[in-house]
Amino acid sequence: MSTAVSPATDQAVAEYDAVVIGAGIAGLYQLYRLREMGLRVCALDAAADVGGTWYWNCYPGARVDSHSYVYQYWFSEELLQEWNWQERFPAQPETERYLRFVADKFDLRKDIRFNRRVVSARWDDHARRWTLITEGGEVLRTQFFISCAGMLSAPLVPPFPGHERYRGVIAHTARWPRAGLDLTGKRVGVVGTGATGIQVIQTIAGQVAELKVFQRTPQYAVAMRNDRYDDAARAALRARYPELRAKVRNTFAGFATDFAYQPGEYYRMTPQQRREALEKLWAEGSLDFWLGGFPELVTDPAASEEVSEFVRGKIRARIQDPVLAEKLVPYSYGFGTYRVPLETGYYDVFNRDNVELVDVRQTPISGFTENGLVVGGREYELDVVVLATGFDAGTGALTRMDVHGREGRSLSDLWHRDIRSTLGLQVHGFPNLFTVAGPLAPSTAFCNMTTCLQYQVDWVTDCVAWLRDHGHTAIEPTAEKEQEWVKHHDEVAAATLMMRTTSWYTGANIEGKPRRLLSYIGGAGNYHRICDEVKASGYAGFEVA
Ligand code: NAP
Repeated sequence: MSTAVSPATDQAVAEYDAVVIGAGIAGLYQLYRLREMGLRVCALDAAADVGGTWYWNCYPGARVDSHSYVYQYWFSEELLQEWNWQERFPAQPETERYLRFVADKFDLRKDIRFNRRVVSARWDDHARRWTLITEGGEVLRTQFFISCAGMLSAPLVPPFPGHERYRGVIAHTARWPRAGLDLTGKRVGVVGTGATGIQVIQTIAGQVAELKVFQRTPQYAVAMRNDRYDDAARAALRARYPELRAKVRNTFAGFATDFAYQPGEYYRMTPQQRREALEKLWAEGSLDFWLGGFPELVTDPAASEEVSEFVRGKIRARIQDPVLAEKLVPYSYGFGTYRVPLETGYYDVFNRDNVELVDVRQTPISGFTENGLVVGGREYELDVVVLATGFDAGTGALTRMDVHGREGRSLSDLWHRDIRSTLGLQVHGFPNLFTVAGPLAPSTAFCNMTTCLQYQVDWVTDCVAWLRDHGHTAIEPTAEKEQEWVKHHDEVAAATLMMRTTSWYTGANIEGKPRRLLSYIGGAGNYHRICDEVKASGYAGFEVA
């Protein structure tokens, strides 16, 4: 790093080759890779420590839905040998501990500036450098601006009127107090029943005095089978690491398993055989039921309905009151077209006397009073309101930053009109901006995050190295290349049932957000092959300067 003084802000300007935004899974690895290359690089994070998602989402019950043995870094043999996973699906504290362990082991903190939120980023056409400004007014100039700010990091807070007069506590799950929040004996309301809400609800129901669950859309949650690992189990998994490392890059969703059945096999089976196959997948207790079974499930309406009904049956069997059961069963969309949550005891919670389901589909929450929330004229008195209301996914992290590219164009303006990118990695008009976990890549939703994020970081690192080796200073995709990717992305999306469902997957959870499937659904393995080809071609379709 070198420094000068900014005439605009009078602040010292720190000069870098690369600035990485975020110190979560992607950011830590990106920092490590660029530092290994000898670049002057730093990472900035709004949080007080490393972890990203696993720092902010420290709500009760937060847990990974990917198997720990594939939700990890592969780049260091030592790390793989030293870290001992405790569970098949680790809880948030274990995952956060892992990321801290990584940061310590590779001495990453010395190049991370915490408590720094970037509020503005501008590309200078003449100097071919980015200028970043933090909330505190610090100025950084850099050749490469690499966003690892996360696909689910900009919390969505519903604008319920009257929140300022509410005397209780409002806590968004993605901004959960780091010191914790004691809910024991309290009257708690949870708004939202997505993957997050489900984890909170099943965890706190036995602890609170009263729990009101404000549900707008029910979910098809799959029963999780979690195991604790002993040394023997860990040794057996370690022996598989070389195989897993190679395999995850090539499967549909970056997991250790691919679809177990070929396209068309579904209809070659009898209904009885299909049922047995579904039972077997269900017993796995993981997302394999969704992404490790039948590919038809998200493409074929009849198969989708049959599988949806199978899951509805599983839900009904758990609820004692049949009228209540019907409220918890989804009908308005097909299984797997909204992110499938894993659950442990979630449905059983509704058999408890202290838990009440408040259906807010037909009659929405009208706002806060001093004492709680109001629905249809009834006041629900609450000590704590938990907002498990999700995120402005895929684009929110960058549109909430004021990013201006070539000739002053605004990324926020662009993505508020039309969400576009090239491979989810770059955007035409924004040279040297890399968007790890950006929209239109599998990492936005349809991939085991660590698999796709590591791939993208490797791709970005190789691209930076290639530019340097070839004496170039800047790169961006052409408008034609971008259009080609967007068209392909849309065609693949159109062949699925995904766009029919209202959820964050399509941007439909945010009013006014342009609709597009945010995540590439052509398969992680396929995506990696396409990105590899771009690299091998010397970045055909990209302009370099
Ligand atoms: P989400 O899936 O978007 O769910 C948000 C919930 O809040 C939905 O039930 C939504 O209802 C509801 N909601 C939003 N605004 C509302 C309003 N004004 N009134 C009533 N209800 C409202 O968000 P999430 O649960 O935080 O999950 C987001 C993603 O994070 C997941 O899909 C997953 O990818 C990831 N995640 C992963 C894990 C894991 O790996 N274990 C855990 C948690 C989350 P509608 O459905 O009707 O909009």
